[in-house]
Amino acid sequence: MFPFIDLAKINARFDLHSSFEAFVQSAQYIQGEESTHFEREFATYCGSKHCIGVSSGSSALYLILKAYKHLGKLHDNDAVIVPTNTYIASVFAITQNNLTPIFAEPNVQDFLLDSSKLESLLTPRVRAIMPVHLYGQLCDMDTINAFAKAHNLLVIEDSAQAHGAYLRDSHTRAGAYGDAGAFSFYPAKNLGALGDGGAITTNDDELATTLRCLANAGSTSKYTHTLDGINARLDSLQALVLRAKLPLLDSDNAYRREIAKTYASAITHSDIILPHFRISSPHSHVWHLFVIRTKARERLQAYLARNDVQSIIHYPIPVHKQQVYARYNHLELPIAQNLQSEILSIPISQVQTPEDTQKIAEILNAFVL
Ligand SMILES: *Cc1c(COP(=O)(O)O)cnc(C)c1O
Repeated sequence: MFPFIDLAKINARFDLHSSFEAFVQSAQYIQGEESTHFEREFATYCGSKHCIGVSSGSSALYLILKAYKHLGKLHDNDAVIVPTNTYIASVFAITQNNLTPIFAEPNVQDFLLDSSKLESLLTPRVRAIMPVHLYGQLCDMDTINAFAKAHNLLVIEDSAQAHGAYLRDSHTRAGAYGDAGAFSFYPAKNLGALGDGGAITTNDDELATTLRCLANAGSTSKYTHTLDGINARLDSLQALVLRAKLPLLDSDNAYRREIAKTYASAITHSDIILPHFRISSPHSHVWHLFVIRTKARERLQAYLARNDVQSIIHYPIPVHKQQVYARYNHLELPIAQNLQSEILSIPISQVQTPEDTQKIAEILNAFVL
C-alpha cells in the first residue's frame, strides 16, 4: 500500500506525551504560554513582525479581510482578485465579508495565478489581490507586489500550502511578502497540528492589534467587547504540538524536495506532464503536493488504485463552478477548467521512503493508455 500521506507516522516522530502531561497540569488551556511562544517562534521563522494564532486557515483568511474592513481599508462590495483553482476557503473569506471575488486564471505550467493577466482583471472596485501559493510554490510575488503598489492594492497571501517557502533568502518566507499572510495547520499541511489550527502573519501593528481583538470575541480585556468579533483562537494544545514540530519543518521540506527531484527524473511516461519547478530558486517550492497532469486522468487514477497507490484531485471543481457560487457558474475560465480535468496529486510526504517513491514512479511508467 502506498498511502497518500501517513499522518500517524508523521506525528509518531515527536515525543509529545510528557509535554501533554505538563500541559494538563498547567491549566492554561486558552491563550496560555504555549500560544504566545508559538506565535513568537512562527513570526521569527516567517520573517514577520507579528503572528496571531487562530483556529484555522479559513478563519485566518476571513479575519484578515474583516480587519481591513474594520480599519476602513476595505468596504462592502470592493473586489478582490483571487485564483479560481484554489481551496474554497480563499473565496469564502471574500464573499462572507461582503466583498466580490474577481476570479483569475492560472498559468498552465505552474498552476499559479498568472501575474501577466492582472492588468486585464483590474476594475475601479478592485482593492486587493489574494495570491495562493498553491501546492507549496510561491507565486510571482515581485510582479504581484509591484502591481499592487502601482494600483494601491492590498496583498493577502494564502500561504496555507507553503509554510517555509522562500524566494531569495530564508529571512523572508511565505506570509512575509504581502501585507498579511494566512496559514492553515490542518493535519495534512506541511506543518500540521493534531486538529484544526491557523495563523496570520503581518508587519502591520494596527492590523495585528485589530486581528487579536477580532479573533478573541472582539475583546482585549475579559467581558469587555470593543469589536464585533468571533471566537477563532488557536488552541494552546495545538500551539504546543506546533512548537514541537516547527524545528523539523525545514528538514521535512528539504526531504519533500528530494522526493520531487526523484519523481522528476524517474517518471518518464510520455503522456504524463510533470509539475514545473523553478530550478533557479529551489526553496520557493515546499512541495505540499506533487501534481501531475494527463489527458487520461480518470483511467490513470483507477489504474493507480488497482496498484495500491492512493491519489487525490486538488481540486475537482474550480471555485466559480461550485454549486454554492451559482451566481458565478456562468463564468468560463478555460485554463482552470481544463487543468481541473487533467490534474492528479500523487503521494508525497516527509515520511515516504525513497523505495516507495521509486516504486510509485515505476508503477506510473508502466501505465498503458
Ligand atoms: C487548507 C487550505 C485553506 C484552509 O485551511 P483550513 O485550516 O482547512 O481552514 C485555505 N486555503 C488553502 C489554499 C488551503 O490549502
